[in-house]
Amino acid sequence: MRALDFRSDTVTRPSPEMRAAMASAEVGDDVLDRDPLMDRLERRVAELLGLEAGLWTPTGCMANTIALMLHLSRGDRFLAPAQAHVLGSELGTPAWLAQGMPEALPWEAGPGRITPMQVFRAAGRPGPYYTLRSALLCLENTHNFAGGTCTTAAEHRALVEQARALGLKVHLDGARLWHAAAATGDTLADLAWGADTVNVCLSKGLGAPMGSVLCGSRDLVEAGRRIRKMLGGGVRQGGIVAAAGLVALDYLPRVPEDHAKARRLADGLRAMGFRVAPPDTNILLVPVPDAAAALSILEGVGVRVLPVGSALRFITHRDLADADIEEALDRIRAAADRLVTTWEGDRPMV
Ligand SMILES: *Cc1c(COP(=O)(O)O)cnc(C)c1O
Repeated sequence: MRALDFRSDTVTRPSPEMRAAMASAEVGDDVLDRDPLMDRLERRVAELLGLEAGLWTPTGCMANTIALMLHLSRGDRFLAPAQAHVLGSELGTPAWLAQGMPEALPWEAGPGRITPMQVFRAAGRPGPYYTLRSALLCLENTHNFAGGTCTTAAEHRALVEQARALGLKVHLDGARLWHAAAATGDTLADLAWGADTVNVCLSKGLGAPMGSVLCGSRDLVEAGRRIRKMLGGGVRQGGIVAAAGLVALDYLPRVPEDHAKARRLADGLRAMGFRVAPPDTNILLVPVPDAAAALSILEGVGVRVLPVGSALRFITHRDLADADIEEALDRIRAAADRLVTTWEGDRPMV
């Protein structure tokens, strides 16, 4: 039985077109004098986001780390919505390498979202010289652990304006900004508006085997290029993977298909009696009393998911066809008796 893999939209395999582009990529030594395809990819992504320049990084974590190292001095506080990837999923690099003091803001504007007033309350009172200094607002769109929720361009703009008014820098972790754009109808540039730096991931939903791009002003990107080298991210013939990144961008118009798959999955699960909120994008959270038990039951019927807190996280992506969604629902239905006990019983299932 072929496992249906909903663990992440990073499990996709490079398409044949992508592999062909990689095989025939024109390359150079990016550390010595820039690789032509990396250069093209960085320009293309910066243009999409309405920013001056871009910097390829092997991972989104490295892009976020570089951004925080650019914006923070030792002991500076940075604000981020609770459960942001940068707070809990990057092994403490904001403290370890960027030396910042994190402050998690609760979701007062809805799942994964914060209000300008919260930014003001956290950073708006200068205070005497011994007051902790706030230097950065770090946003995340879509918000992964809230269930792929979107901040609209209008909400984003209000947050950036508030941050600016308080003298804060703004970094946007837009690992799945593609999905926010597809769901809200706002352009990538509107969703990136006013941010000093923006990170987008080519390996999240678009199918590239690796690669993120950190965009910002020309000066910030050049400073970031030094930090990338320090972190071991200066690669040589990176055109091999930049070629995959350029092909990955061709998938942008098809991102809504993955959102439709998530909605179909949600509808099917709801029809079986599970309590599932309609997904904003390609991430679906299914709250369960015992995630570990539910996970192993699903694993047994060939449906792979990841636990997020007390929920199961399903992510739809380009390597799952519409027929795979129906197949997953059939498999889950076959285990529904045991799963419903897991979901609704008050004792853990074995
Ligand atoms: C995946 C992800 C990242 C970066 O992840 P890498 O695995 O390092 O590429 C950063 N932020 C968010 C919100 C993510 O989902």
